[in-house]
Amino acid sequence: MDVILKGKYIIKCKIKAVTGLHIGEGNNSIEIGGIDNSVVKDAEGKPYIPGSSLKGKMRALMEFAEGKVKDNLLIVSVKRSGKPEICIHMCEDIDCPVCGLFGRNHGKHVTKEEFIRNPNAEGKDFSDAVIPTRLIVRDAKLIESSITDEMKENLDLEWTEVKFENNIDRITSKANPRQSERVPAGAQFLAEFVVNRYEVDGSDDGQRYLSKFIKAMKLLEDDYLGGQGSRGNGKVKFVDIEIVYKDSSDYEKDSSDLKPIAKADSLDQLKLSTN
Ligand SMILES: [Zn+2]
Repeated sequence: MDVILKGKYIIKCKIKAVTGLHIGEGNNSIEIGGIDNSVVKDAEGKPYIPGSSLKGKMRALMEFAEGKVKDNLLIVSVKRSGKPEICIHMCEDIDCPVCGLFGRNHGKHVTKEEFIRNPNAEGKDFSDAVIPTRLIVRDAKLIESSITDEMKENLDLEWTEVKFENNIDRITSKANPRQSERVPAGAQFLAEFVVNRYEVDGSDDGQRYLSKFIKAMKLLEDDYLGGQGSRGNGKVKFVDIEIVYKDSSDYEKDSSDLKPIAKADSLDQLKLSTN
């Protein structure tokens, strides 16, 4: 397969937490006097949104929206006691919008359908369809000024709030209080995404994958990011969006004359001009 890099779409924006945001650290270890359900923080102790969380959530939403969540289109990613525990979409269709944007893994993959028929199935290598992943997602850093002094007065920790949640046993009425750390509503993060534009065997992507990425952004706004989304957390909005296209030839020139191909306060106002 012949792959040529035509250029890069660079999407810069802010991610605003419309409701409290809980992106967990995952280890859930309990420190004495600590929070038992804390949020991810950078080396300076400030909460941030890991690129992997954004990418993973957007991929999952796109798999559903593009009709890729079917037993013959899912691969078994984690199995436990002979059962497919976690399945994700991955396929060898070169034109697949999900795999094309978010990438494919090397190695052999067994579809959920095959696995149900034969848990020892060997699987298939999709290497012939592997194109370098088009989407790159940077970690989104907290914009410190978005957490105002007024907001800080209501916070339990320097940048975050701690919520108590209570599960009550229906028979004994025994309560099981649990703490959960959240980034407060109103906090903003600086985000950057890159969508690579390729020419694959003579066929130019054009704006196809950029449009698909914008679809993934819209899907995320109407879903949630992080944990406890069904209980009110994790509504986010993309604001102050600017998209610039850099042609591969632009990398040999001064970048000062690059013009945005789209600029908008929010996704509903975003219109792409062609290039
Ligand atoms: Zn696919």
